[in-house]
Amino acid sequence: MRRRIGAAMCALLAAFLALPGQAHENVPGQPPVHPEITPAQAAFDKLFWDIDDGAFPLDSYAQTYAVLARLEQAIPPGDVHRQLQYRYMHCLVGFNHGTTGAVDYARESAEAARAAGDEASEAALRACLGIHLSNNGDAASAAVQYEQAAQLARRGRDFNVEGVALVRRGNLRMDAGDIAAGLQDLLDAQQVFERGQVAFQVDFNLFAIAQAYRRLGELDRALEYINRVVEFGQARSDELVLASALNERGRIRMARGEFDQAEADLRQALVYATNEGRPASIGYIRLQLAELQNRRGRPRDALDELQAALVAYRQTGGPPPQDLLDLQTGIARSRLGQHRLALQSLGRALPALHDAGDLASVMEAHLWRADSREALGDATGALADLRAFARLRRESAGRATHQRVLAMSEGFDARYTELRNTRLREQQARAERLAAAERQRKPWRIASIALGAMLALVLAWLALRQARRLLRLRGMVSTDPLTGAINRREVQYRVAKHLAGGDAQLCVVLIDLDHFKQVNDRHGHAAGDQVLVRAVAAWHGVLRAGERLARLGGEEFVAVLPGAGIDAGAQVARRLLEATRAIDLGDVAPGLSITASFGVAAALPGERTLEEILGRADAALYRAKTAGRDRIEIADGPAPEASQ
Ligand code: GH3
Ligand code: MG
Ligand code: MG
Repeated sequence: MRRRIGAAMCALLAAFLALPGQAHENVPGQPPVHPEITPAQAAFDKLFWDIDDGAFPLDSYAQTYAVLARLEQAIPPGDVHRQLQYRYMHCLVGFNHGTTGAVDYARESAEAARAAGDEASEAALRACLGIHLSNNGDAASAAVQYEQAAQLARRGRDFNVEGVALVRRGNLRMDAGDIAAGLQDLLDAQQVFERGQVAFQVDFNLFAIAQAYRRLGELDRALEYINRVVEFGQARSDELVLASALNERGRIRMARGEFDQAEADLRQALVYATNEGRPASIGYIRLQLAELQNRRGRPRDALDELQAALVAYRQTGGPPPQDLLDLQTGIARSRLGQHRLALQSLGRALPALHDAGDLASVMEAHLWRADSREALGDATGALADLRAFARLRRESAGRATHQRVLAMSEGFDARYTELRNTRLREQQARAERLAAAERQRKPWRIASIALGAMLALVLAWLALRQARRLLRLRGMVSTDPLTGAINRREVQYRVAKHLAGGDAQLCVVLIDLDHFKQVNDRHGHAAGDQVLVRAVAAWHGVLRAGERLARLGGEEFVAVLPGAGIDAGAQVARRLLEATRAIDLGDVAPGLSITASFGVAAALPGERTLEEILGRADAALYRAKTAGRDRIEIADGPAPEASQ
């Protein structure tokens, strides 16, 4: 009876896993034929990749919807995976042009993924839902989605989505002022990216980490991280990355009081932003330069920069960050002794900064207005500003802005007490001197615009690029573009489906090419790629209908053998090993040959996921490696009779 059920399961599974009936043959020099997928699936995957690669402009509603319509039409009928992949793409790029309904769309899609039992897609869609929720200002719900996305992705070992969800949660926390917790998320994400070798994310996340360290006042650390981003941008000659990285490094150096270096960075950033034709970035950098000039006691230069910033912002067609322009203008006027003008600018800036929740800038504006009011003989008004400052400082105690608030407060208490207890006018000159000295020394002034609008601006600046890269989920497509093997998420899904019944047999052969790094080192990465393509083609030649080959990452693959016990698995492994040795690579590089090591494991009763089985296969593979490579090791598992 049990056998019957087993046979029925196998038939079901065979139907599910069945190869499309076409013949396949990989011809050297021709693009590889991928026997794993139908032409319709391949067409969808290719389009998805092309969109992901930025092959189509998505700058307008019309462009975006034309591309999405094409992708939607390419979904093979009844292909639930690709439907979810489409939804994911739609979720990411379909709502950038003022379209409403993003949250509903994302939520519906995540539920559909859950209903389909497709955890990888669910993880990605929950991350997307989180983004739309946070765009809508619902940070609490967004955090829940990110958390779920991270958990699902962790379970599925989808390093990209897990890392992205952590980054997003970190950003939320930092926006809420909890910079330390946010930073921790980013550092965790960094580990995840590194573990998964998600190359682009590894480099890109460094940017956010550098920003967080700056906001915490840990400037050495901030500099260390941003330097890695600069190097990364230089290595790729990526001017947009360089513009943002040098801008950020300028801010860090400004905060360290290294004004000349800061200015050099900002000017260079300006060159890149100009080359890239990005007026919003230009305006933003000009604003930083204005602040730098104010810090250096060059208020006239600051006003020039502000003028240039305004010109650039006008070109964007969008509204400039008027509150921050007003703040720097007010400071420059106050420094110039043009106190009435200063009061006008600061008076405009204050409510806007307040609305933006930019606490540190609000406090700064109060300090400067106190100065100008004192200078104009308005002792009562000055005192009111200092009181406001004191109240905000109390309110901010315990928040993560504390670091900067403390720095800002230095020298404040004495001044405040004096002003309160003695006649203001008599103290004016002294207070002014104190304040001036304090401002010259403290790094807080620069850091103070880090919160609120400015951060949002930086993020918006990076948003297009980042959205594509941070959330691009190459893993969302079921096939690996280089070799045509299915990918990890696809094989996970298929194994989970197969094992869902409970008593199905399944065997996996984990494959890792031997000394593959040497192939790259000696013959170049392109040759390495060719070896991967050839190896996959050779292995496909060995596998039978219903048996699947997946690329888990790098030079690690798994063959999944539904219905097979450990003995059958070992036999397949032997065929794979022979096929590997026999690959002719003479045309790739003279004398080049390759071997691989194999770890074989069968599903234990009750096991439901690929990862459970892979754990044992991996241990076996490790034994094969340490025993000298080019060999097969069998994992401890069920005795052969138990697996019948
Ligand atoms: P071992 O026998 O212990 O497995 O040694 P190894 O050199 O194969 O293993 P290691 O994990 O040290 O190196 C794997 C290398 O695979 C490092 C990485 O550069 C390379 N690699 C990963 N993905 C790709 C790829 O898509 N193309 C190419 N050409 N190389 C890749
Ligand atoms: Mg290897
Ligand atoms: Mg390896």
